[in-house]
Amino acid sequence: MREKGLLIVLSGPSGVGKGTVRKELFSQENTAYEYSVSMTTRLPREGEVDGKDYFFKSREEFESLIEQDKLLEYAEYVGNYYGTPVDYVRETINNGKDVFLEIEVEGAKQIRDKFPEGLFIFLAPPSLSELQNRLVTRGTETDDVIQNRVAAAKRELEMMNLYDYVVENDKVELACERINAIVMAEHLKRERVEARYKKMLEVE
Ligand code: 5GP
Repeated sequence: MREKGLLIVLSGPSGVGKGTVRKELFSQENTAYEYSVSMTTRLPREGEVDGKDYFFKSREEFESLIEQDKLLEYAEYVGNYYGTPVDYVRETINNGKDVFLEIEVEGAKQIRDKFPEGLFIFLAPPSLSELQNRLVTRGTETDDVIQNRVAAAKRELEMMNLYDYVVENDKVELACERINAIVMAEHLKRERVEARYKKMLEVE
């Protein structure tokens, strides 16, 4: 039986650069992951292609997909639906290929429940850990602003709980290298490779 592919979920707070990192990863020639094109009800932006960037759907079409259980996860984000087609993900993984999702945190949470064997990577804003120190020592913000910024940073940090790995997005190329390293290591986990070796021993 062919080894199953990985379900790689890249997520993280809004504005952290998930889309930029994903685009960089898929512009690299040696990237072997299959990108799962999401469904959305938002209108295409200039240059976006249906079926490549997203499958653009009406609200009615999207809601019918929800009813038919055709989505692995979905979430409403800034007034629009976004969701991952479940059939594509299943088929690709069953064919031994790695699927890559780039989604917001609510959707990632849903997948964590349904598909805990996925590989969950949290893309973190750079210098998050230093944010509080910087704000306090800089002394230019009012207390209120500092408190709001720190509260937002803490909420973002708390989201990490659901993830297996944290990749800081200080530089896009570095973030991509880290993601590739994580995926490579995941493939080399004993649980994933031991069946092959057991078979080898049976033959000898
Ligand atoms: P945008 O409208 O800028 O393309 O995407 C908005 C947000 O939706 C981004 O954070 C992106 O990661 C997220 N997103 C894209 N596709 C999906 C999806 O299939 N499911 C979920 N939950 N979020 C998605």
